[in-house]
Amino acid sequence: MGRPKVAFFDLSCCEGCQLQVANLGEALLDVLGLVDLVEFREVMSESWEGRYDVAFVEGSVVNEESEQRLCEIRQRSNVLVAYGSCATIGGVNGMKNRKLLSDVQSTVYGDKGDWFPVTKTRALHQIVEVDYFIHGCPIHPDEFIKVLKSALAGLPYLVPDYAVCVECKFNENVCMYDKGVTCLGPVTRAGCNSWCVNNGNVCYGCRGMVSNPNQTGAEEVLRSYDLDANLIANKMMMYNAAMEQCDE
Ligand code: SF4
Ligand code: SF4
Ligand code: SF4
Repeated sequence: MGRPKVAFFDLSCCEGCQLQVANLGEALLDVLGLVDLVEFREVMSESWEGRYDVAFVEGSVVNEESEQRLCEIRQRSNVLVAYGSCATIGGVNGMKNRKLLSDVQSTVYGDKGDWFPVTKTRALHQIVEVDYFIHGCPIHPDEFIKVLKSALAGLPYLVPDYAVCVECKFNENVCMYDKGVTCLGPVTRAGCNSWCVNNGNVCYGCRGMVSNPNQTGAEEVLRSYDLDANLIANKMMMYNAAMEQCDE
């Protein structure tokens, strides 16, 4: 029977999440001891003709070609994992959904825009069934390992559905709002251990919105700091614009 066949694929993205996996170091070597890595463009040139036990797909769907490729990968995979914000929520690629596609094409390609047909940005689950989600831009290495183990064992992985602020409080960070800076932690789903705030930055909402955000509480916080709720809504669009009509 052999070890499970695992493959990594990329659609439209910066490949930063693949790089995160390639940079796992010793943890990656442990992973490689458990699986048979059959495709992974950043670390090997071989390809595989058979079925995949677990396929990790990074990047968003932004044209018909990438939609077809995703459907083919899905057909050949027992388990499909969407990893990275581009794949799980559309990510930064989703910003174009708020503009006319013809304007986007001409801005990028000038008078050759028609040569490069595009569709609105979609996350993977808006097209095919996704078995596991690893959110983040880029993904958090610890979560990648947890999801891989769950996928190999056939166990569910529950993405935390509470706000980044919960992790941030456990980490005893001084709140960015107290420093006069806007942060998207109150409406963003946790799971990164408040990675950015721990390192002196704000939360940009890269893991997507919690399913039931405490809107009243968030509005109260914003009022107490004399901030407009539209400011937060607009900032959330950096990563979450493709989810505006999402039914995840
Ligand atoms: S989620 Fe971020 S790091 Fe990962 S591929 Fe997309 S843009 Fe790059
Ligand atoms: S708003 Fe940002 S800085 Fe403040 S607690 Fe939440 S995550 Fe931490
Ligand atoms: S703190 Fe926010 S922006 Fe940073 S990794 Fe976590 S969810 Fe993403």
